[in-house]
Amino acid sequence: MEQIKAQYQVAIVGAGPAGSAAAISCKEHNLSVVLIDKAEFPRDKVCGDGIPLKTFNLLEKLGFNEDELFEDGHKINQLKVYSPEYKITTYGNVKADASTKSGCIPRKDFDSKLFKKAAAAADLALTGYRVIKIEDVANKKKLILKNLKEAGQKEIIVEAIIAADGANSAIARMTGLLKREEAHYFDGLRCYYEGKKFDSAVHLFYDRQTLPGYVWVFPVGEEKANVGIMINKKFKSSSGKTIRDIFLDVIENNPNLKEVLDGARPVDKIKGAPLPLGTLPGSRITNGVILIGDAAAFINPVTGGGIYFSVLSAIKASEVLNDSLSRNDVSEKGLIEYENWWREEILPGFEYSDMLKRWFDSEKFATWFLNTASWFKPFANFFIMVYGRPLPKRALWHPLFWIRVFLQR
Ligand SMILES: Cc1cc2nc3c(=O)[nH]c(=O)nc-3n(C[C@H](O)[C@H](O)[C@H](O)COP(=O)(O)OP(=O)(O)OC[C@H]3O[C@@H](n4cnc5c(N)ncnc54)[C@H](O)[C@@H]3O)c2cc1C
Repeated sequence: MEQIKAQYQVAIVGAGPAGSAAAISCKEHNLSVVLIDKAEFPRDKVCGDGIPLKTFNLLEKLGFNEDELFEDGHKINQLKVYSPEYKITTYGNVKADASTKSGCIPRKDFDSKLFKKAAAAADLALTGYRVIKIEDVANKKKLILKNLKEAGQKEIIVEAIIAADGANSAIARMTGLLKREEAHYFDGLRCYYEGKKFDSAVHLFYDRQTLPGYVWVFPVGEEKANVGIMINKKFKSSSGKTIRDIFLDVIENNPNLKEVLDGARPVDKIKGAPLPLGTLPGSRITNGVILIGDAAAFINPVTGGGIYFSVLSAIKASEVLNDSLSRNDVSEKGLIEYENWWREEILPGFEYSDMLKRWFDSEKFATWFLNTASWFKPFANFFIMVYGRPLPKRALWHPLFWIRVFLQR
């Protein structure tokens, strides 16, 4: 077995948006870094491909250029939300606006650009290696990597690990972090469609079969859209239908969706992936290990959005780790600032989203609420304020929140 010994302070496992952002951020703190992914890039990732403005703001701080990221994507100016009774609430205007930063970029292209920069920044980038085991050795962490291209293994000894290995995180499993309860998961499917001109709007279809989840159409190019569904994981066990049955049923029968997709055809297979939601119980740190991104289940429980939280948590983890390494203390206690941070700064937003998700579990409520939002601005404002951005702690106690709900045009 080949050994690479203690040359690196940090091993980052997973090089999606979370791991790539962490590698760049760690190097900004002058930490020595090995970045590991089992995949070779470019690699696909089942996702809605929707990337909000606030993500680009973070990525720009890490040295990315928005125009470069958008070479393969589509800018978005409008959001349309459809109720189970087909009423429509519209936010924004489809007219192109050069200053718009929100958009949809196929993950294969987006992640590849992030990885390229991260690999160049890292002291060593290993792709095609799966982390299969971690061990404690004299206050350090030994990672055992399986070479997926040819037979063989590598050992790497580091001081700390940033686990960015996604929704099925092996590191979270090996360290016993997170309690994998089905109630805190969505299941998702995605298929690309082509064959018609899509405008610069994203569409959310709250069909009665998908509640509290939805079906989406997110254009990733002028003539290509990401079409997908996310739905409660526990749903599958309580009905005879599979998520795929429901997805196809909604595509075939929802009149709003039929109109948006009219003329477009699927151009690839339907692919699935789980979404671990931010309310998933459990600590995100242990001795020498920090979980970030999907490995930490940092996905908004009502939108299914996780890319922003991946980058945000990567930046925070690097900052905390830099501090802990300088104090020579990467114990659970030494990393506690990260645990406190996510509980204080992002969990409250997940809890507000979860509240809306639980309300939308009721077909009656969701239909009444979304029908009303289509003509009564305060309801539309409330929805977008919970849906559109992570709310801070006690946001609903703040008069400004309600002023915006009632007065925003
Ligand atoms: C159907 C669906 C739709 C979604 N839509 C959106 C959306 O529109 N907008 C949004 O913001 N978010 C969306 N999300 C969530 C988003 O995809 C995730 O939050 C995001 O991918 C998290 O990034 P990550 O870097 O943490 O994980 P990933 O992107 O999953 O990257 C993890 C990496 O770890 C590697 N890896 C895994 N195990 C190992 C191992 N043992 N050893 C080495 N490498 C390993 C993998 O190869 C992978 O490259 C969606 C998710 C789903 C499932």
